[in-house]
Amino acid sequence: MISKKLAIIGSGPAGYTAAVYASRAQLEPVLFTGIQSGGQLMWTSDIENFPGFPKGIGGPDLMQAMRDQAARFGTTIVDDLVSSITRKEDQGFELVVGEETYQAQAVIIATGATAIMLGAPGEQDFLGRGVSTCAVCDAAFYRDKDTIVVGGGDSAMEDALALTKFAKTVTVVHRRDSFRASKIMQDRVLNHPKVKVIWNAQITKVTGADMVTGVTIKTPEGEQNMPIDGVFVAIGHKPASELFKDLIAVDEKGYVVTRQSATKLGAEAAQAAVTEEGLLAFPTQTSVPGMFAAGDVVDVRYRQAITSAGQGCQAALDAERWLEAQPESK
Ligand code: NAP
Repeated sequence: MISKKLAIIGSGPAGYTAAVYASRAQLEPVLFTGIQSGGQLMWTSDIENFPGFPKGIGGPDLMQAMRDQAARFGTTIVDDLVSSITRKEDQGFELVVGEETYQAQAVIIATGATAIMLGAPGEQDFLGRGVSTCAVCDAAFYRDKDTIVVGGGDSAMEDALALTKFAKTVTVVHRRDSFRASKIMQDRVLNHPKVKVIWNAQITKVTGADMVTGVTIKTPEGEQNMPIDGVFVAIGHKPASELFKDLIAVDEKGYVVTRQSATKLGAEAAQAAVTEEGLLAFPTQTSVPGMFAAGDVVDVRYRQAITSAGQGCQAALDAERWLEAQPESK
């Protein structure tokens, strides 16, 4: 059994920022990265809106820098998954990671979110063989090919633009008649000569042999088959909260509820946590004392690298103050 004051679960901007702050506060945290260190930004080519990088920075480069920074101040980084977590009365939390068991007085959940799939027949069968959730990772395999991107958010726009660098054609298939993506991203996509959009359309089937060869697209005019080489699914993400859902409050979509969640449940939790001085106590705390959460696993509204990093900082500061207030920490 390895004992720690603080365990951080997750290695996106929220987890690494929490680790930088917690390690600089001498909490000597352990951070469990999960399967892939770096989280969703590992699949993002150019980040143009993270302050401090006027020329933009590659997602993997930014995440490696955050990891290095967390390690520099003494965070123990474990490249493994937490398989279970239980709450121990008066002893914090017990986390099982591979063959090892860790005990932590406080925990920061920063597990992020994973890609949502369409659920169309064939989609899962061809995952990695023409169906992808990551254009930035896979676009180069589609040089001079015909491709589809499904979705109307910023991820879909980003995927479409990534594909234009390689593919012969990029068709964005969207279920409504307007995109929800930011205006600047929409404009780039809509003005790109390689991109065409099919509005009010759903993919109902993915077909192929070894690799994808086509899709069936349903529009108000009916169903049509379209020959295609690659299908990039970019319809959003779901919070990675499965591990905690029996331990702490999550909302109906699985987002972890904290006192600063931008939802009704969050507002209710906040109302119950106002101190006598009129301040909100430990805004990033979940429904369980000593367990904090930050980033995309909580955030239904902003979901940006910079907001995740900010929340990671808040969670570390809350955890530090909470630990100081515990009798056994003194
Ligand atoms: P999102 O904003 O939730 O957009 C998901 C898109 O997929 C929507 O257009 C939605 O359609 C569509 N969709 C959802 N379920 C579908 C289904 N079953 N079938 C077909 N279409 C479906 O997700 P996101 O694009 O991944 O972005 C998430 C957050 O990250 C956003 O806040 C975004 O701004 C941010 N982000 C930022 C950047 C950047 O700044 N560079 C890059 C990527 C993401 P409807 O529009 O009809 O709901």
